[in-house]
Amino acid sequence: PAALEARSLTQRYGSLTALRGVSLRVEAGEVVAVTGPSGSGKSTLLHLLGGLDVPQEGEVWWAGTRVDTLDTQVRATRRAGQVGLVFQHHYLLDDLTVIENVLIPSRLAGQRDEARARDLLARVGLGGREAALPGVLSGGERQRVAVARALAARPATVLADEPTGSLDRANAQAVAQLLVNLAREERAGVLFVTHDDRLAAFADRTLHLLDGQFTESVPALL
Ligand code: ADP
Ligand code: ADP
Repeated sequence: PAALEARSLTQRYGSLTALRGVSLRVEAGEVVAVTGPSGSGKSTLLHLLGGLDVPQEGEVWWAGTRVDTLDTQVRATRRAGQVGLVFQHHYLLDDLTVIENVLIPSRLAGQRDEARARDLLARVGLGGREAALPGVLSGGERQRVAVARALAARPATVLADEPTGSLDRANAQAVAQLLVNLAREERAGVLFVTHDDRLAAFADRTLHLLDGQFTESVPALL
């Protein structure tokens, strides 16, 4: 099965239609970028794909299992083991060390692989910072901890919202390369939303969202 599949997602906020029958597939081992102007529905789509919201119409499938119809708690448990999330607000727990933050999803999924967590931290340039508390880190460092955390439980799918948004060029490139390597080496499906062409260049293909639908060509406004 595909790592991730959306079938005809439609989502409305009152009279406003944020998504209009959006479908997509991300295969295992594939990296897909989603771009689109502000208000085009990117955040709504990511929340549905990650099972944080339930679609009003349509279906979401993770690795061959339909998840939008699952009980919220069951879906949350599945998410911990199957889907890595990197969102804008990083939600690091301030009273846990960096490595304990990275290990949160693995623990929820019933695994605890410290060697993996250390390796991921090294790969995002945070080797040696395992015992630090998030409060002493810069915004970019916190973002890189969130990336390591999203990958720690060996998820089949990674969903990321501007994962390099607060990173300098070198760190952005390291994170992009890590996501691609994860897709290739561990057969994960990776989907990220970005405005950064340098990040989009790492993807196998790019989907353009405009007014709640995918468009064939890049809108001139972008
Ligand atoms: P993007 O992430 O591309 O900026 P969003 O998914 O955040 O797009 O928003 C898509 C549309 O839905 C926008 O017109 C936005 O104003 C609207 N919208 C998003 N969330 C809400 C909400 N909670 N209530 C009402 N309208 C919303
Ligand atoms: P914004 O739409 O302002 O960019 P986000 O998309 O980062 O904000 O997050 C919106 C909501 O999604 C949060 O209020 C939270 O409930 C949920 N969320 C985001 N990331 C996670 C996560 N890693 N785990 C659980 N819930 C999350």
